[in-house]
Amino acid sequence: MEKTINVTSPLLPNIEEFGEMLKEIWDSKWITNNGSFHKRLEEALCEYLKVPYISLFTNGTLPLITSLQAMRISGEVITTPYSFVATTHSLWWNGIKPVFVDILEETGNINPEKIEQAITPKTTAIMPVHVYGKPCDTKAIQEIADKYGLKVIYDAAHAFGVEVNGESLLNAGDLSTLSFHATKVYNTIEGGALVMHDEKTKKRIDYLKNFGFAGETEIVAPGINSKMDEIRSAYGLLNLKQVDEAIEKRHQAAIKYRQVLKDVKGIRFWDDIQGVKHNYSYFPIFVDANEYGKTRDELYFDMQKQGVYGRRYFYPLISTFTTYKGLDSAKPSNLPVATKMANEVICLPMYSDLSEQDVERVLDCIVK
Ligand SMILES: *Cc1c(COP(=O)(O)O)cnc(C)c1O
Repeated sequence: MEKTINVTSPLLPNIEEFGEMLKEIWDSKWITNNGSFHKRLEEALCEYLKVPYISLFTNGTLPLITSLQAMRISGEVITTPYSFVATTHSLWWNGIKPVFVDILEETGNINPEKIEQAITPKTTAIMPVHVYGKPCDTKAIQEIADKYGLKVIYDAAHAFGVEVNGESLLNAGDLSTLSFHATKVYNTIEGGALVMHDEKTKKRIDYLKNFGFAGETEIVAPGINSKMDEIRSAYGLLNLKQVDEAIEKRHQAAIKYRQVLKDVKGIRFWDDIQGVKHNYSYFPIFVDANEYGKTRDELYFDMQKQGVYGRRYFYPLISTFTTYKGLDSAKPSNLPVATKMANEVICLPMYSDLSEQDVERVLDCIVK
């Protein structure tokens, strides 16, 4: 049996360099609480991502939960069902009612035209997701938000390093959240961040992720603990040095996938968008069973039999899970595009050390 090819594989820093940094941390005996590696990583990420302020977190879910606290969001929030569950769970953990609206087939992102119809007197914010790192229509979303006085918090977990016409996508909206989980383009094993526009907001968020401490004896809010430690900050500094190269390798894999798949009837995929610097975080394909001659699940499980493990991201839709399926907005009739895409999608293996032979093996499963 040939080796299995997984959907993803983590980008790992050089172990010797990591060892040297660990030695430095051991010598300092400062292992968490805003230490020097933590500060250095925040600075380095601001520069790399072209954003003014960033606050590091222990994972990508707590920035979502904290962002809602920081903006004092309540009532109802309009969001997408086509995402990872953490997006909607963050609303639930804040006692907020999620209101699902459908997505666009061209991007997989929330359909701005559907947002306005879903607004009620209780709506306080919009939480879109740049799914697979493809930019949402940030301009249209901001116009609606401004018109109705709503906040916009982007779940940008997939959008590390994505730029539109030379500007970071992470500067859109009021706040953007990132995940540095092992499966993402850039990882700190577990980790995440919030991107904000001004120092005042950063200060408030830094309080919130540290129990609300504003000084030795002063607590200004019911905060949580979500501080990134020194070891993962050091790991993150090293991974940042090699992330451009990793993205370029993913790009090459995407080129190869597209070259071959463009001739396969019934398999749809997206091309790059002009003016967008992509990060190639995922490579989703959509299977039209009638044209292709096999259903998505038939193809998915055939691939597994040959040792190739894709993932059905994002199936099932968040709106179908027990916690949310009772909501009016969760009805499949309200979400026809998302339902269709969830039933057709497979994300193909995509990571920086995916070899050409690996890509060919994946393609062989689909082409024959
Ligand atoms: C990965 C992910 C998260 C959560 O990140 P964790 O770091 O795993 O907590 C949130 N939203 C989306 C869209 C994600 O893909």
